[in-house]
Amino acid sequence: MTDPKVMSLDERRAALDVISKEVRACAKCELHSGRTLAVPGAGRPDAELMFIGEGPGYHEDQQGLPFVGASGKYLGELLALIGLTRNDVFITNVIKCRPPANRDPLPGEIDTCVPAYLNRQIEIINPKIIATLGRFSMGLFFPPDTRITKVHGQPKRADGRIYFPLFHPAAVLRNLNLRPAMEEDFKRIKTLLTEAQQQAVVETPKPDDDPPFKQLSLF
Ligand code: SF4
Repeated sequence: MTDPKVMSLDERRAALDVISKEVRACAKCELHSGRTLAVPGAGRPDAELMFIGEGPGYHEDQQGLPFVGASGKYLGELLALIGLTRNDVFITNVIKCRPPANRDPLPGEIDTCVPAYLNRQIEIINPKIIATLGRFSMGLFFPPDTRITKVHGQPKRADGRIYFPLFHPAAVLRNLNLRPAMEEDFKRIKTLLTEAQQQAVVETPKPDDDPPFKQLSLF
């Protein structure tokens, strides 16, 4: 595969489409037997900001799209707060098929699904910020004893990327006392994006700074 850092938009889209097709046909874990539709994820193939939720719920399972129920509507409102739409970001989940009765994903399901699909999506999209929605998503990038009530809204910088833990929108809808904190955390994303973009300008050589490679390619 081409280095994701230099992939064109079309190459990224094509690579993500390959993963989506695999997800829709996947039978790697038991969740495939109860799903209506698998939910690979959706959004910009080169998004700077990627949201990772837990897993599909009823509406997502019916439509094959992420965050389309009440949580999705709220996520759309939060994005609008910072001047973004779903088309500006990439949204997916830790696991791609709905667990029965919306139960928590099992460790074995996460361990099977994440390396097969989510890790590849992250590699292709190469987002500057990964915003985790809820504890299962946070658990992929933060130590196991991390409490979301303690760390939400506190960015972690690692591997040239910012990991930003957020409550799951469904948890906020169940407990409206979390709403002010969720909205404050979201507003911080704007600042983090600016930080990440400035960092990228420093790290990425401009085309004019890169003549040796071009010259070498002539020989
Ligand atoms: S949850 Fe993931 S690993 Fe399990 S069947 Fe769905 S796509 Fe495959």
